[in-house]
Amino acid sequence: MTVFLDNKLNALDTIYTAFAQNTKEYKKLQACRKGCAFCCSKAGCIDITTLEGWQIKKQIERFSKDRLKSLSKAIKQDIQKREKKKLNACPFLMKNNACMIYNVRPFSCRRIYSTRICKKENPPQVNRQVMAIANKILKDLQSLDDTGYSGHMSYVLHMLNTPAFLNTYANQKFNPHEIMIFGKSHSIIINKMML
Ligand code: SF4
Repeated sequence: MTVFLDNKLNALDTIYTAFAQNTKEYKKLQACRKGCAFCCSKAGCIDITTLEGWQIKKQIERFSKDRLKSLSKAIKQDIQKREKKKLNACPFLMKNNACMIYNVRPFSCRRIYSTRICKKENPPQVNRQVMAIANKILKDLQSLDDTGYSGHMSYVLHMLNTPAFLNTYANQKFNPHEIMIFGKSHSIIINKMML
């Protein structure tokens, strides 16, 4: 039932690659260094599409039982904190400041970088051209996932872990009524409406 989704993952990769290539020159000025997790630990909303969520879900299903258990707990805690409007570190951020899902990290994480070292009083500074390219890419991502939704990563993963929702989404059906209550209270966007 998931062939449709799997087929879209190549197109997702092509979009990520195009962004990396089109912003390569600007990103030469980035101050970001390995081991810095400012954006991941002071994270605002990490918005993803359901298709990106599907790719992440496939990756984490390969984790060991123990890692999966602690990750599920971290995602639950993230949901609870954010429902109380509290900032929280990304559930995928590890103790060594590395990303647990780096190879499939969503576009929100790929687009963010900074031309200066970040501090509390100096949040990330992004080149204007990169922001413009990223905003166009967002449209491409929503268009690719036109039977899906967008929202904070933990919320989207929660939706994909709900069998009824997964069944609808993986079968290319479109039933926004199914998620209306959760969607409204968690700022979930219908991708189709953004095109
Ligand atoms: S998914 Fe990875 S890169 Fe993105 S915020 Fe989380 S830890 Fe950071």
